[in-house]
Amino acid sequence: MTNFKTLDDADVAGKRVLVRVDLNVPMSDGVVTDATRIERVAPTIQELSKKGAKVILLAHFGRPKDGPESQFSLEPIAHAVAKVIDHSVHFAADTIGEKAAEAVGKLKNGDVLLLENTRFHKGEEKNDPEYVKALAANGDLYVNDAFSAAHRAHASTEGLARVLPAYAGRTMEAELKALEKGLGAPKRPVVAIVGGAKVSSKLDLLGNLVEKVDALVIGGGMANTFLAAQGVKVGKSLCEHDLAGTAREIMAKANAANCTIILPVDAIVAWHFQANAPFQAYGLDAIPEDGMILDVGPQSIERVKAAIDDASTLVWNGPLGAFEMTPFDKATVAAARHVAERTKAGHLVSVAGGGDTVSALNHAGVADDFSYVSTAGGAFLEWMEGKPLPGVDVLKK
Ligand code: AMP
Repeated sequence: MTNFKTLDDADVAGKRVLVRVDLNVPMSDGVVTDATRIERVAPTIQELSKKGAKVILLAHFGRPKDGPESQFSLEPIAHAVAKVIDHSVHFAADTIGEKAAEAVGKLKNGDVLLLENTRFHKGEEKNDPEYVKALAANGDLYVNDAFSAAHRAHASTEGLARVLPAYAGRTMEAELKALEKGLGAPKRPVVAIVGGAKVSSKLDLLGNLVEKVDALVIGGGMANTFLAAQGVKVGKSLCEHDLAGTAREIMAKANAANCTIILPVDAIVAWHFQANAPFQAYGLDAIPEDGMILDVGPQSIERVKAAIDDASTLVWNGPLGAFEMTPFDKATVAAARHVAERTKAGHLVSVAGGGDTVSALNHAGVADDFSYVSTAGGAFLEWMEGKPLPGVDVLKK
């Protein structure tokens, strides 16, 4: 990852370092219920503090509409950060102006300060140069460790990198390295697995992948749309019949780009959309009219495993079936475990991400065995869609 400056390139001792982090954590009654996002940025905060920086954290929280709203204050989160990094965290009730300047002025080397929600000022989401300037007044250097917010060109995610020397934090660095291995400069053959509910939400993603990967496995509800477009009768399955033309276009685009599309060859059919509903495997020529496809079938699982065996690099978004309900998690779990085994054996670089994908891999108990699992929802999907990420592009040397 030579085209980004990292903390290895920064001399931070005694400097005021503005660090953009993702603290958009789930809360209930003022208490953080899942500290995963804080844990992810902890190494960067701790490293900067140990190196003697004055660490000033910037983050957004929720979607305040009209200036400060107490329910979106970051103040309670300062305590949660302190707990995770095992170091005291000061708090200032504004990101700019006197309150921020006073708190920053009091910092000693190694101290950590969290500023209030960046979105309490309209200039944040507008990337207003005046707001950027006011933020920058409190910093000598800028570190972005919030990949998950990098698809947005906001003042604290993009603007600051234009006016201060800018570096990728450790989490950002790890994410960018993993993504580079996934689709940037991957070892071929590259196989993508895309599943989930609907084609309509993943058109850009499919369109980009067919041009970048050697084989594309399509599963989940969206596979039904592709099958129906080829004349398969899918009964009462989730299916976007109006997108048959789009599905055929994607297949033609794949063909032109020498990307093999791997669709299910059989299906697990149930008659009720609920856990442990009675089910049966069917070939594609025999899907019952009154049934619903809730998972890919056993022969399809074998095909997916063979595709994984052929791959040196794998990218994955979306489950192969309705994995939240047993036994319709079977294909997703089997494929995930196979990817994990191939990765552990050193045959595969595996990168996965997107909300449901992370829970599916956790459900399969293998998230830690993938090369990289991104918890950045929107930013990860936009990366898979091949869209530029402003917060990343601006960090390029
Ligand atoms: P997405 O957010 O697009 O990745 O979709 C994930 C959702 O797709 C999960 O909630 C799955 O239960 C659902 N899903 C996957 N396969 C099917 C299927 N064959 N029928 C209905 N829902 C499905």
